[in-house]
Amino acid sequence: MAYDNDNIFAKILRGEIPSEKLFEDEHTYVFMDIMPRADGHCLIIPKTPCRNMLDAKPEQLATCLSTVQKMGHAVMKAFDADGVTVQQFNEAAGGQEVFHLHYHVLPRHEGVSLRP
Ligand code: ADP
Repeated sequence: MAYDNDNIFAKILRGEIPSEKLFEDEHTYVFMDIMPRADGHCLIIPKTPCRNMLDAKPEQLATCLSTVQKMGHAVMKAFDADGVTVQQFNEAAGGQEVFHLHYHVLPRHEGVSLRP
């Protein structure tokens, strides 16, 4: 399916709406989720247009996953977490609500469930 330039994360990348930036490099951007399901819940996105994983070029997947790993280590340390959950949804039926590729990184603690 086609990429929609007016999706919320495209607007964040263009600086048209605010975001709480955690990290960026040449290829990826990381910011806090506006409705965190765990403390430290953040989102990793490619800077180039990509609807979701099904639409991604290999280099978009590679650079995103490299940043996901980096943020996994960072949140483990910053939140003294016991583990990290990585989530990624594709198309509405797959749970996707914002149609720009993104990975959720969620710090986890033993015995603590994610908030709904
Ligand atoms: P789901 O909502 O089922 O997790 P997605 O994987 O598409 O589906 O996730 C979209 C995520 O984007 C949600 O966690 C939502 O809280 C977050 N979000 C939506 N708008 C913003 C925004 N302006 N800034 C930061 N995060 C946002």
